[in-house]
Amino acid sequence: MTARPHPEAGLRALVGDGSMVPCVDGHDRPYLNLDAAASTSALPVVVRAVEDFLPCYASVHRGAGHKSQQSTRAYEAARAAALGFAGRSPGGGDVAIICRNTTEAINHLAYRLRLAADDVVVTTVVEHHANLLPWGRLCRRRFVECGSDGTFGVEEVAAAVDAGPRPRLLAVTGASNVTGWQPPIDDIVRAAHERDVPVLVDAAQLAAHRPLPADADFVAWSGHKMYAPFGAGVLVGPTAAFADGDPFLAGGGAVDLVDLDEVAWTDPPDREEAGSPNVIGAVALHAAIDELGRIGWDAIIDHDTRLQRRLRAGLVAIPGVNVLGPDTGGGATLPLVTFAVTGVPHALVAARLSAEHGIGVRHGCFCAHPYLVRLLGLGPDEIARHWDAVRHGDHRDMPGAIRASAGLSTSIDDIDRLVSAVADIASGRPTPVAYHQDPRTGDFHPEDGSTAPAGGGRAVGASCARG
Ligand code: PMP
Repeated sequence: MTARPHPEAGLRALVGDGSMVPCVDGHDRPYLNLDAAASTSALPVVVRAVEDFLPCYASVHRGAGHKSQQSTRAYEAARAAALGFAGRSPGGGDVAIICRNTTEAINHLAYRLRLAADDVVVTTVVEHHANLLPWGRLCRRRFVECGSDGTFGVEEVAAAVDAGPRPRLLAVTGASNVTGWQPPIDDIVRAAHERDVPVLVDAAQLAAHRPLPADADFVAWSGHKMYAPFGAGVLVGPTAAFADGDPFLAGGGAVDLVDLDEVAWTDPPDREEAGSPNVIGAVALHAAIDELGRIGWDAIIDHDTRLQRRLRAGLVAIPGVNVLGPDTGGGATLPLVTFAVTGVPHALVAARLSAEHGIGVRHGCFCAHPYLVRLLGLGPDEIARHWDAVRHGDHRDMPGAIRASAGLSTSIDDIDRLVSAVADIASGRPTPVAYHQDPRTGDFHPEDGSTAPAGGGRAVGASCARG
């Protein structure tokens, strides 16, 4: 395990750390990325691995040439690393399917389970849309509710599993992208298995922060949230689950033999990966897995816990700031905090953090609308009003909050910079420049356009309120 260079520093620098960005006062500031839960910057070793690999880049599984063989080897080595990262042993009956991201992985699984319209999947109101919508369009869903603090216990999960016909699957997040809360996943998996129900864990948030649950039947995650933003994600599950039936994608590479009216699909994983694979993404993912292994989970969890405690305590102490989600004392929560500022729209807080302080955060509903509605305690009338506004293309008053999320390169000083910027905004100090709100996106931008990225055109919305 590598020692940390300074007690308050991040664990690793990331590509682009400290880049200067313009602020409305005419000064440039080092960009502080506190949006790691959306996408992380690349680890330098990941970029180096990609650069080192590029001279051998060639077709994977499709060429007899030396470089094709090298590329195929690199791709299969990444697959093996992904399997190991998910806690599975080679030859242990599980397969890693390399795909684009968590969303694709879950859609892939939803298709491959060959669900009937009256099948049931149990899922929870805490989920990201990626773990709600794929099930909703194929079968019935039974939901685990959460309490006002945004959590549920293993008993509630067991009750939902038992509440009707035996579900085909329990689909649950390993950690919330809104509150950072981690459900007691090992107990949940055990309870589901006692009832003969397989489990998918959405590990999009977990992957960069905690070991993946080795006992879950299926696990999905994304490289771009673990410092490998080159377009690869993974679905891990039992090989047998992919042995029969049509693959999710049909095409070259997934077959043994094709005639005009007949096809013999090949075995997984190739059966599940039609089309030329993203070997660059796989190489990047492999390098990130190796680097997380070198840093070690103990150091990562320790770093996360210190950041989480400082972030939460700092924000909670600001008058007018309301932090959403449970206070678990840090260890059971990822290093992210979602909050609202009384009297200031979430979109304006995020715009001001960017334009006045050079800090990048996320705002809106974080692609978890049902969860946000619960955390904000919205009543049926308010919800109906928002639906009506959205149907009329008006996003000005969308519900939402602001999320600050940290990663490997975040330091305690970074957290303090965010906290003092939020305190400044919450203090009621008038904005130093006028902001304009785009009704179509709900986003605010400085009216003078002084901080817009180069390249012209109108600023595109940042809010997840639309998605
Ligand atoms: N699940 C969770 C918990 C997430 O945070 C995200 C990304 N915000 C996703 C699923 C979807 O991940 P991706 O966009 O990489 O498909």
